[in-house]
Amino acid sequence: MIERNEENYRIESQLAQIGSVHEPKTGAINFPIYQATAFRHPRLGQSTGFDYIRTKSPTRSVLEEAAAGLEQGDAGFACSSGMAALQTLFAMFGQGDHLIVSLDLYGGTYRLLERIMSRFGVTASYVDTNDFDALESVRTPRTKAVFIETPTNPLMMITDIEKVASWAKVHGILTIVDNTLLTPFFQRPIELGADIVVHSATKYLGGHNDVLAGLIVTKGKQLSEEIAFLHNSIGAVLSPSDSYQLMRGMKTLALRMERHQYNAIRIANWLLEHPAIDTVYYPALEQHPGYEIQRRQSTGNTGIFSFRLKNAAYVEPILRHLKLIAFAESLGGVESLMTYPAVQTHADIPQEIRDQIGVDDRLLRFSVGIEHVEDLIADLEQAIQAARVEVEDKGHE
Ligand code: PLP
Repeated sequence: MIERNEENYRIESQLAQIGSVHEPKTGAINFPIYQATAFRHPRLGQSTGFDYIRTKSPTRSVLEEAAAGLEQGDAGFACSSGMAALQTLFAMFGQGDHLIVSLDLYGGTYRLLERIMSRFGVTASYVDTNDFDALESVRTPRTKAVFIETPTNPLMMITDIEKVASWAKVHGILTIVDNTLLTPFFQRPIELGADIVVHSATKYLGGHNDVLAGLIVTKGKQLSEEIAFLHNSIGAVLSPSDSYQLMRGMKTLALRMERHQYNAIRIANWLLEHPAIDTVYYPALEQHPGYEIQRRQSTGNTGIFSFRLKNAAYVEPILRHLKLIAFAESLGGVESLMTYPAVQTHADIPQEIRDQIGVDDRLLRFSVGIEHVEDLIADLEQAIQAARVEVEDKGHE
């Protein structure tokens, strides 16, 4: 018999103790990987609580309970990717249903809505979710949910979750928040009134650029039962070994987030003063329009920010000259990664929306890792310097 420790510890302790159970037989400190796909029934009509892996499996259940606890929800669901989590979630909606969605949105979510959910008759309107006139103007009697990313990626726009959730409640609309960038360590949308939280756990939760996973956390019995039904019926569930790998990463989330934040603030401030940089988009900076809301609704800042170069010609040589920072397409891991959103993560967003929000050919997104901050600054400095020399030399040819 394995007993869970039900004490109400602070989030750092909850994280470090994920899967730490009191297992009398071996005394194992962490929860094992149960690979079993089938579970023996004690007798006809009886179950241990586990019957078949897709419906429920022990290692995944420990992760799901931990996720629900961290996000202050009632149930957690671990999926095979962030996109699988989003697809499971969006399967709640059908013919004629309408969603209101953050304008500056992860490209894969936009693609799922526009190219797949549209086949099932689900439509979406993309607006600045802080603009209540815009929210009202697109709302219809068939609007079922408002889907928010805050901060958005890559432009780091902040939405006031509490305000939107109370507006949505009045109209019987669900509030869904993609909490990938802040994680429950810094922001807990359900405490602010959201009904559902979704994650690409591939990012900060896993944290080591080595596991693909998604999570959904629901508030309330009805929503939890609906998502449990979809999770099992669609079957895009997380494997036992990936569930273990994700929990292993999550144990150090608090330490990592503090360091990501520290490094990102230092580097964003350094870039602000740099002559090759036009703008830095980071809600930890006082001049950011979402600074006050972000301070109120979260306890810290993500390790990602974007910056616009003065000259688009710098982009290619900067990416080529970076040594410590990898030119790669993800975020949230211990290793620093630089992305070019217009041609990578946001290529599926139509040009007119990209122009409207400012995802242009001068914008780079930096997922700041946990390396020494001075090494990261030195790498950026040498890459920018080399790019400027190349561009100026070309200009003189
Ligand atoms: N949501 C956000 C904010 C993301 O950045 C991503 C991926 O980059 C996803 C969802 C999709 O997650 P995954 O890549 O784990 O499928």
